Amino acid sequence: MSKAAEAENPVDIAAGRLSAAQYAENFSDVAPPLDRNSAVTEANRCLFCFDAPCIEACLTSIDIPVFIKKISTDNVKGAATTILSANIMGGSCSRVCPVEELCEEACVRNTQSGQPIKIGQLQRYATDHLYSRKDAQVFTRKPATGKKIAIVGAGPAGLSCAHGLAREGHNVTIFEARPKAGGLNEYGIAAYKVAGNFAQRETDFILAIGGIEIKNGQALGQQITLSQLRKDYDAVFLGMGMKGVNALGLEAENLQGVENAVDYIEKLRQAKDLGKLPVGRHVVVIGGGNTAIDIAIQTKRLGAEYVTLVYRRGAGEMSATHHEQEFAQTNGVTIKHWAQPKKLIGFQGHVTGVEFEYTQLDANGKLMGTGDTFSIPADMVFKAIGQTFVATPLKEQGRDLLQLTKKGRIAVNEDGQTSLPGVWAGGDCTEGQDLTVAAVEDGKIAAIAINRALKEKK
Ligand SMILES: Cc1cc2nc3c(=O)[nH]c(=O)nc-3n(C[C@H](O)[C@H](O)[C@H](O)COP(=O)(O)OP(=O)(O)OC[C@H]3O[C@@H](n4cnc5c(N)ncnc54)[C@H](O)[C@@H]3O)c2cc1C
Repeated sequence: MSKAAEAENPVDIAAGRLSAAQYAENFSDVAPPLDRNSAVTEANRCLFCFDAPCIEACLTSIDIPVFIKKISTDNVKGAATTILSANIMGGSCSRVCPVEELCEEACVRNTQSGQPIKIGQLQRYATDHLYSRKDAQVFTRKPATGKKIAIVGAGPAGLSCAHGLAREGHNVTIFEARPKAGGLNEYGIAAYKVAGNFAQRETDFILAIGGIEIKNGQALGQQITLSQLRKDYDAVFLGMGMKGVNALGLEAENLQGVENAVDYIEKLRQAKDLGKLPVGRHVVVIGGGNTAIDIAIQTKRLGAEYVTLVYRRGAGEMSATHHEQEFAQTNGVTIKHWAQPKKLIGFQGHVTGVEFEYTQLDANGKLMGTGDTFSIPADMVFKAIGQTFVATPLKEQGRDLLQLTKKGRIAVNEDGQTSLPGVWAGGDCTEGQDLTVAAVEDGKIAAIAINRALKEKK
């Protein structure tokens, strides 16, 4: 943009900043799969520990040494079966899990050579291999029980629960508000982590066991109610994730160009042609978690020239892992710590910048503004300061049907049982780690508990 044009309209948001080849490269698989030789060589580095700490560190307790041993002997289908028996979404978890803080951090090889076994990549090698086979179905459904279970939400928690119940011979109906299944695997996780149509392929694999029907465009609180589901089904599982987004609490938050990061990521993930998705030249991201990192990297990869992520505390307090922060920086994202947004600056109804105030901790460790400010120009500002669970679909006649926790999520016991008889819940709509692997585990545990409850009822 010329200087004169810039003075007239400082906002520079445009589509097609890059060539088609650059978009394809920027949004292709960030960690390409291992080939056979590298996989076998890597598998042979494993010490196959007794009481392996990596199993403990995996939230779904995959028997990691066993699947790695199978890879080393070229029994790759067997390896995938071991993985999927513990974690039916082992394929997506191999791509999105923060392994550097889970299984790979616990790997004994760290202390020996400073290089953990590449567990995530081996897991991907095995599951990708299975999905590419014609005889991929490794699970069989038990004889039909005649029991019907309703699941709300076709994200990782709902799909994992559905598969567990379908294997036991129950009939499952998933009510999903969106047009596609997969939850954030389909609509939220960075495109370069679950590249191509992997989320859909994994869902197809899960459904292939039979006995699971997904009804899209069916939202709890709109087309369906919890009371009706409880009447019509033998049990209900809620895996609705978190739909709400925290506001910045600033004036002028409705300026054009100020967006929720998750909404923009959803558009990006569903875009048929990334070259048609407009992005600013100057992008500011506010937040310190996965979502903030993901929107920052993806807008940079869409061709934004200056992307600055601003977080109110230090690097160590960011919920995004050290690995993710480093990845953002190597992608050209500037991370600015110890600053909080004070004012959104606008021009003719559109955001043009953000004023920040430096922060520090007071003597009691409380975060406070220092009074010193600075501004960053912005054509787009993304809010990524946390998602919240929206409980309105659980309200009927003005009252909550279920008990919520202090943090406003659905209260559950260790089996995922809610305060309402016959209703279980799991994943992001309950408390715990907001990770795909945690949601899969919640769905798995709830399926076991529901199956047990249905048998006891009989
Ligand atoms: C931007 C972003 C990046 C992330 N990156 C990672 C990552 O790299 N690694 C990682 O492990 N985790 C990551 N996460 C977290 C991870 O995606 C979630 O923890 C996980 O998807 C939770 O699964 P879930 O099934 O509980 O919820 P979701 O995946 O949110 O699925 C919930 C489903 O319920 C549906 N639904 C909601 N309300 C209703 C209703 N009223 N009626 C019917 N259906 C409804 C939704 O449409 C959705 O399909 C990320 C999250 C975000 C937002």
